[in-house]
Amino acid sequence: GTQTSLPDIDPAKLQIHKTTSPKPIPPSETLKFGHVFTDHMLAISWTQQEGWAAPEIRPYGPLTLDPSSTVFHYAQCLFEGLKAYRDVHGRVTLFRPDMNMARMNRSAHRIALPNFDGAALLDVLKQLIRLDKHWIPQEKGHSLYIRPVLIGTQQTIGISPPESALLYVICSPVGPYYPNGFKPVALHGTTEHVRASPGGTGAYKIGANYAPGVYPQKEAAQLGYVQNLWLYGSEHYLTEVGTMNLFVVFKHEDGSFELVTPPLDGMILPGVTRDSVLSLARSHASGALRLPHLGRLTVTERAVTMPEVREAAQAGRLVEMFGTGTAAIISTIDRIGYDGQDVVIPVEADGMGPVSRSLWTEIVGRQTGAIPSEWSVVV
Ligand code: PMP
Repeated sequence: GTQTSLPDIDPAKLQIHKTTSPKPIPPSETLKFGHVFTDHMLAISWTQQEGWAAPEIRPYGPLTLDPSSTVFHYAQCLFEGLKAYRDVHGRVTLFRPDMNMARMNRSAHRIALPNFDGAALLDVLKQLIRLDKHWIPQEKGHSLYIRPVLIGTQQTIGISPPESALLYVICSPVGPYYPNGFKPVALHGTTEHVRASPGGTGAYKIGANYAPGVYPQKEAAQLGYVQNLWLYGSEHYLTEVGTMNLFVVFKHEDGSFELVTPPLDGMILPGVTRDSVLSLARSHASGALRLPHLGRLTVTERAVTMPEVREAAQAGRLVEMFGTGTAAIISTIDRIGYDGQDVVIPVEADGMGPVSRSLWTEIVGRQTGAIPSEWSVVV
């Protein structure tokens, strides 16, 4: 991390340079995820000598970086993803943004980029959103996707902790992930490539974890699957699906459900949606919150293998499987290509299952303000 004696991010020093040529805002129905960006961006530079410089909001536009900058060679880069919602009361809100700030600092620490005051970044990030809030589409299910990035900008060939870095934030108006209702996805149970391994970097949101996943995804697509189900080890432990966390629901002989997700053992990205699903399901299990459809439920973070899933599917004890993440919230799974065969996962007529349906309603309710919650933070 950074030396504490040097300046941290200081919201009082924020400089705002507004654009003189605002862009036309495209009609909401034409939005493709992550293709359009708002009028402004936030940039904060850091040096080892001076710490964090004054934050600057400026017109969205290209960065000027020396070609020797370490980000281009050694993937000294990390990012975050969160959304600003226009809630049912007309306010603009963020969903648990403190979790993104904390995760961003953990990622920075892991790749020797500078740490920062997460509350201070959130403060200036909110000012960016306020400035561009007219870009948040009014339509239901739409939001503003926010992408904070931190890169090493040291102008040196040679790998070491960078002596300079740049933190920036860009915003993209987005539509609902599934505009025409839920569409379950088919997964390729991937054993020939690994996303993460014990002692590796899978638990951090660093750029280096993502580029190697693109080719396996292409391979899965060629085989007729939408995404990779990342399996690990000779036991074929389930880890994650594409870039989402993974949940499996088993039905036990006494009629109760078990909601299972792999534990945070270093191979799993600690997703904000994952944590929210666990928290809601646990309050249901403890009787603190009654969720329709869920029935009697136990919630466990434990290792689960593909043979266990296959056996449960064959025995009629597999209730559903789904991925969780900020972009889609919940994405149900209807098929897994594994060991030369397709394991079929139950999905109901609306494209969901009993547990995912309840959880989706509860999470979206808290994101849109329909269900009051301290997870929702007013911008
Ligand atoms: N796993 C990976 C590898 C991811 O990139 C993401 C997206 N950040 C997630 C899981 C889901 O995390 P979250 O719920 O915080 O979006």
